[in-house]
Amino acid sequence: MNCLKRECHTLLLLFALVALLLTGCSEQNLAPATSAETAVKKIYNWKLAMTWPTNFPIFSSAVNSVAEKVKTMSNGELVITIDSANKHKAPLGILDMVNAGQYQMGHSASYYWKGKDASTMFFTTMPFGMTATEQYAWFYYGGGMELMQQVYARHGVYSFPGGNTGVQMGGWFREEIKTLDDLKGLKMRIPGFAGEILSQLGVVVTNIPPGELYTALDRGTIDALEWVGPALDLNMGFQKIAPYYYTGWHEPASELQFLVNRKAFDELPQHLQEILVTAMKAETLDAYARMFYDNAINFASIQSDYPEVKVKTFSGEILAAMKAANQRLLEATAANDPQFKAILDSQRAYLTKARPWSIASDFAYLKDNQ
Ligand code: CA
Repeated sequence: MNCLKRECHTLLLLFALVALLLTGCSEQNLAPATSAETAVKKIYNWKLAMTWPTNFPIFSSAVNSVAEKVKTMSNGELVITIDSANKHKAPLGILDMVNAGQYQMGHSASYYWKGKDASTMFFTTMPFGMTATEQYAWFYYGGGMELMQQVYARHGVYSFPGGNTGVQMGGWFREEIKTLDDLKGLKMRIPGFAGEILSQLGVVVTNIPPGELYTALDRGTIDALEWVGPALDLNMGFQKIAPYYYTGWHEPASELQFLVNRKAFDELPQHLQEILVTAMKAETLDAYARMFYDNAINFASIQSDYPEVKVKTFSGEILAAMKAANQRLLEATAANDPQFKAILDSQRAYLTKARPWSIASDFAYLKDNQ
């Protein structure tokens, strides 16, 4: 027994010595490493161009929040300065500027680049397409992110989801739209694939940057426009000049977009890449929640503050014509563009499983609990 006790004491002494040595060693090693790290700490000063004007609700605050989070989480190693459209004067030129390296980052909407590449539209939203929940699942688990990077590799950037508006309203119209004839010759601001569809139905389609929308509608440059939903539309004042507010069909889940210059991103150390990607993802989901909240609050205020606004839904005849044009255009574009077809096939295959689940879950619940 005594022998065992002696051995125990000896062992304890040994452990204590080893612990002391280890502590001493780690302190000795840490000190020079810390100062070495400080000496070589590199600061990355990046610039971000956004499509939105300064202090634009939700969209620009999401961008500001990413910049703040990244600066804090990186301990000041990655600093992002933001230029709004008021400064760079090229709200629809973000992709070009980030591709050229004039800016390391951008914040915009992917479907603004449809003129360069039709496949970019899938990463915002498609008419009669996925809901936000379905689309996030597709992006993160259904191959959407990989397809998005394939498309944007051709344009020198990485693309990341940048906040979702949820279902957008179908737009503000000066006059009620009762029949397909009412659409003929109508001048409307509506971007993305929806603009292509309405062109087929006789609408004169245009895209106008957000900062110029109210003036265009007020001066009659356009007869109608769609922007987002109550969260952002009422703030723009459209309800004062175009009282017919239609429910949506064209943008069921508009995802905004962070653009990152590929070379700049690849040059970042891995921990800064991880911080940036994590901050963008966190902000993306936060912006979606904020958008839903503000939509609900502002939609409720229409009834009390703007009783002259009439919320309408397009007739069955009009919606059927839109759907038919949508199918025709999708098939025609896919026939000439293998990348477009690959993304369309991916979304369609995924939706054969996702949509029945949406109907059996959210839709069934809502239908029975109105
Ligand atoms: Ca829109």
